[in-house]
Amino acid sequence: MEYIKSRVRDVVDFPKKGIVFKDLTTVFKDARALHIIGWDLSQLYRDKGITKVVGIESRGFIGGSILAFELGAGFVPVRKPGKLPADTLKASYDKEYGKDTIEIHRDAITENDIVVLHDDVLATGGTMAAAYELVKRMNPKKIYINFIIELSALNGRAVLPAEAEVTSLIKY
Ligand code: AMP
Repeated sequence: MEYIKSRVRDVVDFPKKGIVFKDLTTVFKDARALHIIGWDLSQLYRDKGITKVVGIESRGFIGGSILAFELGAGFVPVRKPGKLPADTLKASYDKEYGKDTIEIHRDAITENDIVVLHDDVLATGGTMAAAYELVKRMNPKKIYINFIIELSALNGRAVLPAEAEVTSLIKY
């Protein structure tokens, strides 16, 4: 894990002043780091019978796809409004300024699925909490939540449901 940590790039004042952005492109471009990420993420869920990994646009698509591939599961995108072509379910949530909406295809998850929701970074948790509600409406057997990085000081776990058994590879 120290190797992954050494590849994460801190970008100060991005996307706005006061934010230290955890940039994972420097992890993903490193072949060894990418391999470790795939292996370590999948080890968390090997014995859980996962059938679908849901990745959150857009950085959650990368780790989410790798995790799905490693587990032999399917991949489902959660996207910003207007991007998914077929019939969708929508959830809105409060951001620092105003509201945001995310969508998922209505036929993406069934009641027989066991799901992992994945994003790269847990910050305030608002986006993931909304994604959880969206997937919950499709009534799968179980929903887990996973991140590569958790920013502990922001306490995003507090807004996520305890039954989702939240995991992260790296905590700051
Ligand atoms: P959240 O505040 O948890 O709803 O985060 C919103 C989105 O922005 C998530 O996709 C996070 O991955 C991303 N994000 C928020 N803060 C950071 C940060 N400091 N570094 C990298 N990504 C971040």
